[in-house]
Amino acid sequence: MKTVSSLLDPEWHERYKRISKLNIRSSIYDVTNRCNLRCKGCFFFSSGEDQAASEETDTKKWEAFIDREKERGVNLAILIGGEPTLCLDRVEAFYRRLPTFCATNGLIKVPRDRFPDMMLGISLWGDEKDEKTLRGKDAFSISSKHYAGDPHVYYLYTLTPNQIGKIDRIVKKIKDVGLKVHMQLLSNDEGVDGFSWKPEELAAIRLEMDEILDSYPQTVISSKYYHKIITTGKMFNRSFGWNECPSVTEPMDHRNPRPKRLIEFIRWASDLETMHRCCTSITRDCSTCKDGAAHMSWVMVNKRMHIRTTKDLQNWIEVYEMFAKLYQFIPW
Ligand code: SF4
Repeated sequence: MKTVSSLLDPEWHERYKRISKLNIRSSIYDVTNRCNLRCKGCFFFSSGEDQAASEETDTKKWEAFIDREKERGVNLAILIGGEPTLCLDRVEAFYRRLPTFCATNGLIKVPRDRFPDMMLGISLWGDEKDEKTLRGKDAFSISSKHYAGDPHVYYLYTLTPNQIGKIDRIVKKIKDVGLKVHMQLLSNDEGVDGFSWKPEELAAIRLEMDEILDSYPQTVISSKYYHKIITTGKMFNRSFGWNECPSVTEPMDHRNPRPKRLIEFIRWASDLETMHRCCTSITRDCSTCKDGAAHMSWVMVNKRMHIRTTKDLQNWIEVYEMFAKLYQFIPW
């Protein structure tokens, strides 16, 4: 029978042991329903989730809620929105209680005297032209000034079909401001012309993502196996989608049979009562969903499936390490 130790040499086995101890239990929180941008393709607004619940404004209620979340076993709070930095008191309530990751568009600078080591992921939707088309402005030119050289910040670079052949220039810009980058794919929830993926484009972007990782190993936080999974939607003989997705809110998960999934995962609306179906929008079609976190979690919860060859298990370790780095559980 194949076992972890029979497949790994001592160095890989140490890496395996390091991540095995982490036991990450994440949940996602809509900090606010408001945003200071309105990007085309943002699932939060396109699905109407900004209207799903009215925002709790009492910071004390947020604090009590977060304490309950901690008791529920959550050890990673992923803050999204709307734009979380519009409500820094709520962000601070999380940061003082739990390991916290904050997704932001980077237009508001988070004060480092108040949040010295909070991990921030800044959304980036392509080059200057794409950002203007999809977001109405070149947000990079602002966010890169706010965070140049910050060791707790990376760009969450959403690739679109228009990015094929252009990734190198963007990643170099990010490297030049002393930041790191993680890549994901646009799901184009609002059907913007020219931004939906064709199979040949997915194949081309996968190749390019691999090349970029080889060219900028100190800047790009990624893994080739993740590139394969997210561009093909396949893991061995399985296809990503509703029947496989690990990132479904647990109390709303009535799938039968229930797939391997994130333990106790919930995505909460900003009234602190309403739950959303999954880590992304209710209106998204699971068969075309490209959500990066859901795909990497899909790999992570399916460890047993990867205990078949040394390469398969190493692939699994690399994806787990990538996730752990993105949320600061292990160093970059
Ligand atoms: S939309 Fe994506 S993240 Fe949500 S349940 Fe479907 S596959 Fe999972």
